[in-house]
Amino acid sequence: MGSKLTSRSTDYSKWYNELVVKADLAENSAVRGCMVIKPYGYAIWEKMQNELDKMFKETGHENAYFPLFVPKSLFEAEEKNAEGFAKECAVVTHYRLKTDPDNPGKLIVDPNAKLEEELVVRPTSEAIIWNTYRGWVQSYRDLPIKVNQWANVVRWEMRTRLFLRTAEFLWQEGHTAHATKQEALEETLQMQEVYADFAENFMAMPVVKGVKSESERFAGADDTYTIEALMQDGKALQAGTSHFLGQNFAKAFDVKYTSKEGKQEHVWSTSWGVSTRLIGGLIMTHSDDLGLVLPPKLAPIQVAIVPIYRTEEQLEAISVKVNEISSQLKAKGISVKFDDRDTYKPGWKFAEYELKGVPVRVAIGARDLENGTLEIARRDTLEKKSYQQEEAVEVIEALLHEIQENLLTKALGYRKEHTTVVDSFEEFKEVIENKGGFVSAHWDGTEETEDKIKEITKATIRCIPLDTKEEEGVCVFTGKPSNKRVLFAKAY
Ligand code: AMP
Repeated sequence: MGSKLTSRSTDYSKWYNELVVKADLAENSAVRGCMVIKPYGYAIWEKMQNELDKMFKETGHENAYFPLFVPKSLFEAEEKNAEGFAKECAVVTHYRLKTDPDNPGKLIVDPNAKLEEELVVRPTSEAIIWNTYRGWVQSYRDLPIKVNQWANVVRWEMRTRLFLRTAEFLWQEGHTAHATKQEALEETLQMQEVYADFAENFMAMPVVKGVKSESERFAGADDTYTIEALMQDGKALQAGTSHFLGQNFAKAFDVKYTSKEGKQEHVWSTSWGVSTRLIGGLIMTHSDDLGLVLPPKLAPIQVAIVPIYRTEEQLEAISVKVNEISSQLKAKGISVKFDDRDTYKPGWKFAEYELKGVPVRVAIGARDLENGTLEIARRDTLEKKSYQQEEAVEVIEALLHEIQENLLTKALGYRKEHTTVVDSFEEFKEVIENKGGFVSAHWDGTEETEDKIKEITKATIRCIPLDTKEEEGVCVFTGKPSNKRVLFAKAY
């Protein structure tokens, strides 16, 4: 397990990097910017996938799979999308290697195996999917199409961090096609709502729902809806996005349908995605200087049970009791790990489960057996208490609910404390510099002002919150009139 973590107050960024590695979530790989997701980290991703997948299906979506490679000519078709992603594309130009004649044992790209058309490794799949949808849509009866895919994508990011921004990442991307603008808009908002629901009710991570300013919009979208979370260092994280794509891709790929009235119309569309970045958000929202703190609903292990014993007989007697409690917990759908390894001491195990963020830890010793007791510790507050063995299952079940709720309440409290309404640029700079968090301010609506504010403070417009109220005011930077506040923050 090694030495102690760097504390968050000493160096937040170092704390994060160390934690990801020490808690066995992921590590850097031989490929720059690409990570290895280790079993414990992948187990969290699987839990996220399961819940999200259920939510997608409940809202009428089906899963499918499209190719990793996008022929360049298709990639180019929607110009804004192509231009936006061009500078971070990996491109396949050849399909064969051969032995280097001058250097046996080494391989070189076979110059005779050049592809006629280069293939772009998908940074997002609109192009390949819309080229496919052309064949799926003839009449209004073929609509809507509501498809999701779980996949990997590649974006050649220059500054990468485990989970938060990697060159290859895992995600889901929903791609829907609709007969009307109204229906596509409703879909866009529905999926933003699904993401917000997941973030708050499973990740215990509060998010602000909003719409992006033009400069932060997805390339090729008419509007990008976002959920924005606040991390413990006061920086914002774009946790998920849902795009209203208008008819842009339908026009680029000539996807039309015959309406009930017999007219040819272009299809309306949306796309939406969340990625393994969510794991980064989960870590940064709840964890502390001792390690991960995981919300019970996404914890791979919800309860760890550690026996404290000297003799084999004691362990045997403890095991009998533990197995009884474990099977009752499992019957309630609670995941339990009984850690009876004799290769580690109990104290080591306690620290290990703290580091790994296991929500509830149970310790049971030889004396407990005599007294009919056990000790239950919760990871979020680090409180421990002794209970009667008969009440253990009930106590643990209630505690898991309580921890889940407590984490959300705490995170909401943090966000409230770190959302500041400002009316002057002096105050704006002061808050961004010293306190961090979201700053709610008036903005004149121009990209020029947005750029200047970013240049001076590094803060960007995270979103125009959906619940923002009309309010007469003046832009904090230019003094020009503004009728609503937007949220600024430094962001990951
Ligand atoms: P986009 O289709 O560009 O809106 O991306 C969908 C979501 O994927 C974003 O909202 C991010 O949460 C996430 N994402 C984007 N780029 C990366 C990256 N390099 N690494 C991890 N997640 C990413």
